Amino acid sequence: MAHRPPTSLVRRARRMHRVLAEAYPEAGCELDFADPFQLLVATVLSAQTTDRRVNAVTPALFAAYPDAAALAAADRAVVEELIRPTGFFRAKTTSLLGLSAALVERHDGRVPGRLTDLVQLPGVGRKTANVVLGNAFDVPGITVDTHFSRLVGRFGWVDDHTVADPVRTEHAVGALFERRDWTMLSHRLIWHGRRCCHARKPACGACPVARWCPAFGAGPTDPEVAAALVTTQGPA
Ligand code: SF4
Repeated sequence: MAHRPPTSLVRRARRMHRVLAEAYPEAGCELDFADPFQLLVATVLSAQTTDRRVNAVTPALFAAYPDAAALAAADRAVVEELIRPTGFFRAKTTSLLGLSAALVERHDGRVPGRLTDLVQLPGVGRKTANVVLGNAFDVPGITVDTHFSRLVGRFGWVDDHTVADPVRTEHAVGALFERRDWTMLSHRLIWHGRRCCHARKPACGACPVARWCPAFGAGPTDPEVAAALVTTQGPA
């Protein structure tokens, strides 16, 4: 059982989250999808690439293979060609064909709405499962990706030991917030990481949560220099 976090930390974390919610009212899932199957496929494709690159290939992919049964029966070479721009296309094709076949065999071709079932699918880890649960099933989920880990470490929401492990991070951050806030919290942090709190040069001088952030100064604090580092959308 995890220890209860200190009240002062809970207050500070929730305050920062409220400020981020105001700063990024449009924050949300940046992958385009129409149903749980499409989101699952898009999330698998998003590994090691940008959401924009995924969104560029999925319309043709989904037009050719609208459901798990169609993708399970697909010609591997055709799928590889369609998803090639997302990188690691051979491994990703293996995952997509494998998970589609598993959906057909185990779940009648439908995407299950439970974490335990999702993580049994080939190529689907906890991060992917939480994205699908949170955005296609309205089941609150915390998505610990590279941005999320970096930010909660800088914010001092979790210690170095915790931040080294995504599952520990998921539980520790989850304990700071109401369950119902988990999905949007994930979006807002990832959004902030993509636009402002960059890995190498965070735009501290233009950051809406700077006054509560112990890592203020990790990047330029001059407002003008910092403002030039802020991007208005995720990377291409
Ligand atoms: S103050 Fe700097 S390190 Fe802290 S959240 Fe803002 S950009 Fe990131």
